[in-house]
Amino acid sequence: MKLVDILKESKKTLFSIEILPPLKGKSIQSIYESIDPLMEFKPAFVDVTYHREEYVYKKRPGGYLEKVSIRKRPGTVGICAAIMNKYNVEAVPHIICGGFTKEETENALIDLNFLGIQNVLALRGDSIKTEPSFIPEPGGHSYALDLVKQISNMNKGIYLDEEMKDATPTNYCIGVAGYPEKHFECPNMELDVLFLKQKIDAGAEYIVTQMFFDNKKFYDFVKICRDHDIHVPIIPGLKILTSKKQLTLLPKVFHIDIPIELSKEVMNCKNDEEAKKVGIEWCIAQSKDLIKNQVPCLHYYTMGNSEATRAVAKAVF
Ligand code: FAD
Repeated sequence: MKLVDILKESKKTLFSIEILPPLKGKSIQSIYESIDPLMEFKPAFVDVTYHREEYVYKKRPGGYLEKVSIRKRPGTVGICAAIMNKYNVEAVPHIICGGFTKEETENALIDLNFLGIQNVLALRGDSIKTEPSFIPEPGGHSYALDLVKQISNMNKGIYLDEEMKDATPTNYCIGVAGYPEKHFECPNMELDVLFLKQKIDAGAEYIVTQMFFDNKKFYDFVKICRDHDIHVPIIPGLKILTSKKQLTLLPKVFHIDIPIELSKEVMNCKNDEEAKKVGIEWCIAQSKDLIKNQVPCLHYYTMGNSEATRAVAKAVF
């Protein structure tokens, strides 16, 4: 079922999760073990992230270094199919521009369509660690907007081969990312929301936000979006802070702020166990306030920690 229809049909705030594919070499069992404890809360959908290649230098005989490309977390498509099959829940693969030509993207979307996947989250992807900024693949897309356009075209039966006649249209519900604290590369929030509006106008039907720890930032973001004629559902993304280290790591990686009250509480914690308790309580309070404000769904970035997500879901749903 299309995610927008699931949201439309629901009278209450829904629960959903994002999971990461396991590290290469681990079995699908590790995915089931992280989802099983959360199934009791009936997730409306499960997002599966996509992780592109990284480059590492391997020492070879003679002392020279060889640059090797590795993908540490492959398996997004297979995991989506396995989740749909085992749990009968919508799985949403993340599709990124980085590392893909348009043709490879088209072929991947054909595979997903054959597997019965109806929802995709269209993203640009970040730059790989060895590049100073995002470099599109030759023959690939520069922005998520171009990816949304390609998927929207396929939904109209327009594939890359212009001579192809009577192609079966796909029927994807397309989601895109939004940033309550603006995307770090964009000069200002106004422009970021104008670019977001372009993705909606091109066919995206819902927005999932980057994590935030201050609900006011989310409410302000929703207001700016509505003021710019963006009327699709906006789903807040929530991350539970689970260690002392995350106080500095999360702002560095995700370009977000952590409020002073939460920072002080975490700094006063003696260990990670205490920090996790503080993080869970904070997220419960955030979640309850968002539900009070009638958000369509609460989307939790589990990042492999289903225990903390379960503690929050138990208190909230
Ligand atoms: P875009 O919408 O393309 O925006 C990128 C930047 O370009 C922004 O600064 C925007 O303001 C600017 N911009 C947009 N259009 C234009 C234009 N026409 N001209 C000039 N500038 C423009 N990354 C992964 O690799 N895998 C994942 O699975 C993944 N999942 C994510 C899930 C969510 C909910 C979120 C919020 C992020 C996720 N990311 C993931 C990270 C994401 O790929 C990065 O944040 C990336 O840097 C931007 O992606 P985007 O789709 O927002 O890009």
